[in-house]
Amino acid sequence: MAWDFGYTKEEEAYRQKVAAFLDKELTEEIARQNWEDLGLDKEGRAFGNKLWESGLLGWSWPVEYGGKGLSPVYDFILIDELGKRWSAHVPNDVAYTMVGHTILRRGNDAMKKEFIPRIVRGEIEFGLGYTEPEAGSDLANMKMTAIDQGDYYLVNGQKTFNTESHYSDYHWLAAKTDLKASPYKGISLFIVDQRAPGITIRPMITMSGERTNEVFYDDVKVPKNRLVGEVNKGFYYMMEALMSERNYVFTPSRYYPYLNMLVDYAKKTTYLGKPLAEDPMVRQKIAQIAVEIEATQLLSDHARWMEWNHQTMTCEPEITKVVVSEMEQRMVDNAMQLLDQYCQLEEGSKYAPLKGRIEWEFLHSFMTTIGAGTSEVGRTVIATRGLGLPRG
Ligand SMILES: Cc1cc2nc3c(=O)[nH]c(=O)nc-3n(C[C@H](O)[C@H](O)[C@H](O)COP(=O)(O)OP(=O)(O)OC[C@H]3O[C@@H](n4cnc5c(N)ncnc54)[C@H](O)[C@@H]3O)c2cc1C
Repeated sequence: MAWDFGYTKEEEAYRQKVAAFLDKELTEEIARQNWEDLGLDKEGRAFGNKLWESGLLGWSWPVEYGGKGLSPVYDFILIDELGKRWSAHVPNDVAYTMVGHTILRRGNDAMKKEFIPRIVRGEIEFGLGYTEPEAGSDLANMKMTAIDQGDYYLVNGQKTFNTESHYSDYHWLAAKTDLKASPYKGISLFIVDQRAPGITIRPMITMSGERTNEVFYDDVKVPKNRLVGEVNKGFYYMMEALMSERNYVFTPSRYYPYLNMLVDYAKKTTYLGKPLAEDPMVRQKIAQIAVEIEATQLLSDHARWMEWNHQTMTCEPEITKVVVSEMEQRMVDNAMQLLDQYCQLEEGSKYAPLKGRIEWEFLHSFMTTIGAGTSEVGRTVIATRGLGLPRG
């Protein structure tokens, strides 16, 4: 099939509607709630409601749950247009871009009816509960248990680096349900009320000031109807979801605001009486950032195009994940050099260039090659699943 990443007339009309809405309604303050994992405040929720009320959310979701039943391209358009403005995300994006798709694929009818309409309307958020102190890259090594007690599962154990848990409504929890089976065949997925009795959440603050969490379960009772799909299939569901999740989460469009910011800065800032933009080295660095963003955007478009054209993806979204996350680190490293020693000043200092945004992004960028799977593990996926090289 020939590649054609262009939009149809209908898709382009949707893009224009979204763009006009965002130009009017989206502010930097609303966008930063998501960069910094703060959870939506009053303005953020009002923005999410307006997005829904304006009829712009959910076009790619089934009609029976409030969507329009169209292809994933509409959600990709929405995500890209948000990203181009203040590097914004869909409100409550873990639910909308990750968890919701697995519920749709694997949840039973009652679970879909209970959760999908609220996800499509952007009303509820989930925290991802996968990583544990001894299970990150090696997720199969998790120790958390969910023991069948007839009417409910009794859950005990600890998760770590669970980012949205302090404000999310639900925990998307992976736990061992068969202690004797091989780890790949003994893990199940659950939806747990994040405020259920027996759950304790402790903050872990990263060097960029973002909050992630340790989440402890002490005899937490999880009703049977909160098991996602079949028991002991959780590991398979997590792996099944990975490819598509990368297409929604690792979005090069979110870097265009940085490029625009740097172009503007180089034009407006003078050094030794001349605009920075007149220095060929400055132009080279900014041009390099543009080259890399454009190249990753094409990679991402290719992987997403495969998804919306129902092509089998083996490693294409994983290639995007590795390249986008490493590109972000090179971009921000180049940006820091352009801002000179002032690059180290944080927001709040009157000398901080670009309101300290580059300094913050530099500190934040270390997590991009770790979160959602490290670059090393990503390259292993590309080598084995994509290129057929042996695992051992
Ligand atoms: C800020 C932040 C937010 C996060 N948010 C969440 C969240 O919301 N929910 C959640 O469940 N998790 C979350 N994570 C956890 C993240 O997914 C894990 O940190 C990641 O998968 C790596 O696991 P680990 O930290 O246990 O490192 P390890 O797996 O111990 O890896 C340590 C190092 O060894 C390398 N390594 C490990 N195995 C291999 C291998 N087989 N081959 C080659 N190299 C290997 C890794 O690449 C890495 O460099 C978050 C992490 C961070 C930093």
